[in-house]
Amino acid sequence: MPQSARNIVILGSTGSVGTNTLEVIAAAGDRFSVAGLSAHRRLAELTSQAAAWNPRWIIATDRQHAEQFRWSDLPSTTEVLYGEEGIQQAVSHSDVDTVVAAIVGSAGLRGTWTAVEAGKTVALANKETLVMAGPLVMDLARRCGATILPVDSEHSAVFQAMQSGKQDEIRRIILTASGGPFRRHTAAQLAEVTVEQALDHPTWNMGPKITVDSATMMNKALEIIEARWLFGIEPEKIDVVIHPQSIVHSLVEYVDGSVMAQLSPPDMKLPIQYALTYPERTSGPADKLDFATGFGLEFEPPDEHRFPALTLGHEVARVGGTAGAVLNAANEAAVQRFLDHEIRFTEIVPACRAVLGNHNFDSNPSLDQLIQLDAWARQEVTRWVCA
Ligand code: MG
Repeated sequence: MPQSARNIVILGSTGSVGTNTLEVIAAAGDRFSVAGLSAHRRLAELTSQAAAWNPRWIIATDRQHAEQFRWSDLPSTTEVLYGEEGIQQAVSHSDVDTVVAAIVGSAGLRGTWTAVEAGKTVALANKETLVMAGPLVMDLARRCGATILPVDSEHSAVFQAMQSGKQDEIRRIILTASGGPFRRHTAAQLAEVTVEQALDHPTWNMGPKITVDSATMMNKALEIIEARWLFGIEPEKIDVVIHPQSIVHSLVEYVDGSVMAQLSPPDMKLPIQYALTYPERTSGPADKLDFATGFGLEFEPPDEHRFPALTLGHEVARVGGTAGAVLNAANEAAVQRFLDHEIRFTEIVPACRAVLGNHNFDSNPSLDQLIQLDAWARQEVTRWVCA
């Protein structure tokens, strides 16, 4: 590998962000080198990725599952590591420059934490890390000299637009939301939404959990919380606007009234690439806007009555402490119950609100406390029944 190549570890390499990251790296010539790849259970896919990329390590995070797996066709120079210790060993290695944190859900917290603690550049696709433990993670990054760069498309857009002015010149940031497949549904129609309908997202192709989050707009609620900690901006200065085309990925309004936006087709490869090449920009494989054919851009305010997740997101961003971890875990468990046909689509947010209301709030929790509350909130949701 060339001396100048940046060594990258991708946590969650078989998921949507992980595979897009490999496409970006493939198109970047010898700029990057794949040092490590991790997967939870998709070990056949992990093996094919290893054969194609010849990484120094692959990490199977579900050790029991990995012990049943017949490893074959691995490059002779690739070492197989297991579990959280495996992640720790790979991401903290001195040869590693950038860690792409793309494990979905709260399972991604520990690996991201380890990468931040090791002072790496972290391309953060796992928004749950900041939702659960935003103040702790940002403080750790400051102490350990880690750089956290957003991969979430909205936060990448805000990050890019923030380079037009100073932090104290920002009046507000405006996160765009596609509105999901049900933005025109009445409250009565929302109550009848099926799993199949919720999994059919109009503009982004993503995994089932985040697709349901997009439909309930809980994804935007989590992104409000993520933005609050990532940019150190007050929740009152974070607004949401519905933008069905998903071309404007978010905006920053400055005190003089100028609004800076970042536009591109909905393609995760662009924010991933920006996080990998920052502060430089390079040509890359992401789709480009075609102004020759013409297109429209629409914006409308969100309806918090039909999409109460947004109200909850602002509340949790305001109170901080343990609330983010509880909301995040409660939502993951509630989405799973919806996917298992146990609760209605419109019961996901009330279930989260109920569990939040029942928890022992602490304004200054430890990481272990947050992880315990994560487990507690999941249990609470399994017991929850609609009043
Ligand atoms: Mg997003």
